[in-house]
Amino acid sequence: MDTGIIKKENIKGVIESLMQMGKVVAPTRQDDMTVFSALPSSEALDLNYTNSKLSPKDYFFPQTEVLFCYEKENNQIHPPLIEDKPACLVGVRPCDAKAITLLDCIFNDPQYKDVYYLNKRKNTVVIGLACTNPQSTCFCTSTGGGPLDTTGMDMLWQDLGDRYLIKAVTPQGKELASKLFGIDKAPEKDLSYAKKQGEKVLSMIPPAFEAEKISEKLRSSFEDSVWETIHEKCLGCAACTFVCPTCHCFDIQDENSRDRGRRVKLWDSCMFPLFTLHTSGHNPRLSGKERMRQRIMHKFNYFKVNNGHVACVGCGRCIRECPVNMDIRQIVSAFS
Ligand code: SF4
Ligand code: SF4
Repeated sequence: MDTGIIKKENIKGVIESLMQMGKVVAPTRQDDMTVFSALPSSEALDLNYTNSKLSPKDYFFPQTEVLFCYEKENNQIHPPLIEDKPACLVGVRPCDAKAITLLDCIFNDPQYKDVYYLNKRKNTVVIGLACTNPQSTCFCTSTGGGPLDTTGMDMLWQDLGDRYLIKAVTPQGKELASKLFGIDKAPEKDLSYAKKQGEKVLSMIPPAFEAEKISEKLRSSFEDSVWETIHEKCLGCAACTFVCPTCHCFDIQDENSRDRGRRVKLWDSCMFPLFTLHTSGHNPRLSGKERMRQRIMHKFNYFKVNNGHVACVGCGRCIRECPVNMDIRQIVSAFS
């Protein structure tokens, strides 16, 4: 089945059938925030959200991940259990689903494959949730996305009020749709309402900049005087990078006790001075100017050159969470 309808009264049954197939990670409400977490029951699902504070990136690329544990005395290494069970990520907004495909460029690099990431990726079906209520900080259409974009999804659900329109995108999505309880054929009137709703939501997201033009301009802007002042308000707190669904910098550290320890992979940020501090004491990105330039250049220039797409999906989280109201739309527009 390529398209279908699930009535909202049947959604719990659908989630329960997904839970019988494997782990279901989905939006839940915790302490006034929407958080992606493994559902303990279908009751915990909350699809009435605009977007989550943190993206579901954490599922594939956790904030802290144990690579292995060791015992010094016996020279023993204990690898962690690599997750290889089927899972389903439900309710992922189009910007965040697209961001997963950009993380693939890093963790599925032909030379450096991250088995921890790839095992989860290959066993996980991604069910997206179309946007019906974009925020003033959203600009996905300026980075090649949109409220109905299906990049990175196996299936898309679109909220039509008392029902969801289901669209299977990949062969895995089609196979899953054929197994789910309570999917009916989509009537023509629902398909046409969904199309109109998509067009209306699209018109609610104003263009912020032309990503292609900015990428091109940044190629010759390393020494531009704009960098001298544009970073001045920045506190270097790194909130922008920790909430970003595409940021992927990490550090690897050993946490030791007397005779045993564990090696962990942790999120890191190019906005911290320590990120580039060498053991010699030399730091190639000593100033805030250099760190801001790196963040913007990497997202809109280097990543585009290396992978064909800018490393920003226009989710707007960095704008919403910056304590001093830095706005990435204004920063990059300085180069238009
Ligand atoms: S969130 Fe704002 S203040 Fe903090 S590092 Fe990012 S741009 Fe700077
Ligand atoms: S840079 Fe900002 S707007 Fe772009 S994907 Fe990251 S958090 Fe979202």
